[in-house]
Amino acid sequence: MSRSAHPAGPRHADVLTEGHYSAPPTDLNALDEKVWARTVRRNADGVVTVGGIEVSRLAEEFGTPAYFLDETDFRARCRAWADAFGRDADVFYAGKAFLSRAVVRWLQEEGLNLDVCSGGELTTALDAGMPAERIAFHGNNKSTEEIERAVRVGVGRIVLDSFQEIARVAHIAQSQGKRQRVQIRVTVGVEAHTHEFIATAHEDQKFGIALADGQAAEAVRRALRLDGLELIGIHSHIGSQIFDMAGFEVSARRVVQLLAEVRDEHGVELPEIDLGGGLGIAYTSEDDPREPHEIAKALTEIVTRECESAGLATPRISVEPGRAIVGPTAFTLYEVGTIKPLEGLRTYVSVDGGMSDNIRTALYDAEYSVALVSRTSDAEPMLTRVVGKHCESGDIVVRDAFLPADLAPGDLIAVPATGAYCRSMASNYNHVLRPPVVAVNEDGARVIVRRETEEDLLRLDVG
Ligand SMILES: *Cc1c(COP(=O)(O)O)cnc(C)c1O
Repeated sequence: MSRSAHPAGPRHADVLTEGHYSAPPTDLNALDEKVWARTVRRNADGVVTVGGIEVSRLAEEFGTPAYFLDETDFRARCRAWADAFGRDADVFYAGKAFLSRAVVRWLQEEGLNLDVCSGGELTTALDAGMPAERIAFHGNNKSTEEIERAVRVGVGRIVLDSFQEIARVAHIAQSQGKRQRVQIRVTVGVEAHTHEFIATAHEDQKFGIALADGQAAEAVRRALRLDGLELIGIHSHIGSQIFDMAGFEVSARRVVQLLAEVRDEHGVELPEIDLGGGLGIAYTSEDDPREPHEIAKALTEIVTRECESAGLATPRISVEPGRAIVGPTAFTLYEVGTIKPLEGLRTYVSVDGGMSDNIRTALYDAEYSVALVSRTSDAEPMLTRVVGKHCESGDIVVRDAFLPADLAPGDLIAVPATGAYCRSMASNYNHVLRPPVVAVNEDGARVIVRRETEEDLLRLDVG
């Protein structure tokens, strides 16, 4: 019986078999630089540091559980993406991976644009001073209020996701006396995840307008006719945690084919194409992600080649990495609570957080690594499952992990690569308080999203 163990979710099952785990690492004290944020080290006393600060000090000052985000690493990754794509392309950070006002300021300073997909994300972006023209608005069910506001503040583009939305955005823009820049999100029949992709004609999911059966062509026809819209291009987002560029290859080919059809039918060459995000990161030592410059080179080559063969000028490319920028930059620090050895099975290690601060293991059977970070140990490796404190047996943080056999209550352990889709998906299940996000740079550590308090909980509960 196989379990799903796929970042894309249970319907992408048959990837890992139950009980799959690699052999214990040769050195439990080693920190694989692939999965840890750039300034993470283990110092001479055996304590892990980030930005030169010991995790034990961080735990004292900020408590546990907490997310520690390496600002130096975040900024370096932003720059790497911006430099890799250069002046002929635009990089939009996908805010849903993790968004806060500090993050918005870093993005601005490093020259990135921003994707939002709700009024709340838009508010965060604008409040932190992101110029509206550098914001793209996404989502399959934007409310009328969200659209009205996006048009009013002048977002750089709205990505249209349905026929209703084409009409709705056009109407709203016109009633404000504006012409809104838009892209049409198409589904190209490519589902790409990690090392596989599936190319089909149809996709059974909620996003976008199908290329199949001429639907996307009809969407373009309508958008071009409406005065309230300035159609600037076609958008395609094919999956998540992707390592293999072949899915992008098929997607780009299909999008370029649509651009050629649009030129033939309307005599218009749409100037932009957006290939979405979804680029993979290393959650464990077994993952081998590509560098931004390799991705940029591959994507640019694919689009250029396809356009040449279709006789089109190469459009301006945009990409939307979320996970690939923020994912590797943070780790979650937990304190070990109870330890329960189950004879012949494994040892359950309970931490002071769980599925409320990292739902990805429960939701997608995602894989993570974990390390003892408050000290080193020469003890034998023991097979553990790191679990949370919630009233739910699926409350698993790391399904299969080796930790030293002398692990004890009070030890600090850390789960790396939790920068994306952990705090942003955090919940209050069991009225557990959501952890803070602490940014660390060469000047020290500071809270950028504070820990939730019991007062916060009661404030929403009006009695
Ligand atoms: C989620 C999403 C992204 C970002 O995906 P990552 O896996 O975080 O890179 C980009 N674009 C769109 C449209 C998305 O929905």
